[in-house]
Amino acid sequence: MSLRLTLLGTGTPTPSLERAGAGFLVEYNDEALLFDCGPATVHRLLAAGVPPTRVTHLCLTHLHYDHCMEYGYLVLNRWDQGAGRIPELQVYGPAGTARMTRLLFSEDGVFQADLAGRTQHPGSHFVYEHRGGTLPRIRPCPQVRELAGGAEVAGTGWQMQVADMVHCQPYLNSIAYRWECPDGSIVVTGDTAPNAQLVALARDANVLLHMCHFLNDVETDPRITTSCSGHLDAAQTAREAGVDTLVLIHLTEQITQPGIRERMVAEAAAEFGGAVILGEDLMEAPLGAIQPEPIL
Ligand SMILES: [Zn+2]
Repeated sequence: MSLRLTLLGTGTPTPSLERAGAGFLVEYNDEALLFDCGPATVHRLLAAGVPPTRVTHLCLTHLHYDHCMEYGYLVLNRWDQGAGRIPELQVYGPAGTARMTRLLFSEDGVFQADLAGRTQHPGSHFVYEHRGGTLPRIRPCPQVRELAGGAEVAGTGWQMQVADMVHCQPYLNSIAYRWECPDGSIVVTGDTAPNAQLVALARDANVLLHMCHFLNDVETDPRITTSCSGHLDAAQTAREAGVDTLVLIHLTEQITQPGIRERMVAEAAAEFGGAVILGEDLMEAPLGAIQPEPIL
C-alpha cells in the first residue's frame, strides 16, 4: 500500500518533550500532506524520515498556536532547502490563513528581514547556488486556499472534504478534514466539541483522529465541554459514524498517566466497540483491519 499515516504530534498547548503540538502526516504516492503544524512538527518530520522539502500540502484545522506555530518554519525551511527546485507549498486552512500567510511572508511581514537577506545578499546567493538554485532568487509564495464547511478539494488520486467544527467561534473558525484515496479514508478533527457535521464527515472512514482533551467524568464545566471533546465524546462520534479505528490525539499528561490512560482507552473502547488507539508521537497508525497475531 502506498498510503501511510504517521502521528507527528499528539499533544496540546502545554509544552511537552513527549508530545509535540498537533501534526499528522499522510504520505500517498509522491505526495506528503501535513495536517496541522504545531510546535516541534518540523523536527518530528525529520525524525519520521521526511525532510520538509517533501511536504507538498499543509492542511490547517484552525489557527490556535498549538496547531499552526511552525507554519512559518515549515515554509521557510522548505523554501530555503528547496532552492527553487520544488513547487510552492499548497496550503489549506480556515478563514484567517491567507492573512497569516501575508503577515508572515509579505514585504512588510514578520520575516521580511530574513527574506530580504536571503534573496539579495551575495552570501545567501552563494549558498542558494550551491543547493542547485538559479538566480534571481524568488520569495516563498505559499498557495493558500481558505476553506469552510462543504468545501471539496480534488488532488492527484485523492480528494478531501471539509466540515465546520465547534470550537472557539466567533474568535476563530475550526474545520475538520476527510481525506481519502482508493486505499483508505482518514478524518482529522482538529479541535471540536461533539457535533453532527463531524459524524457525517467521518461516516464509515477507516481512521478517525479525534481530539481527546479530558476525561468526560472529570471535566464537566460547560465552558470546556461545549468547545472541546473528551474520551467518551470521541468514542461516541466514532460509534455513530461507524469508523473502523479511533485514534485519540490532543492528549495531556494528566490523562495519559499510568493507570488513567488504560482506563480511558477501556472506557472509550466499551463505548465505541471498534479499535481504539492511544496516539503517540511518531506512531504509524494502521489503516486496515487490526488483528491479534501469535507470538513468533
Ligand atoms: Zn484549539
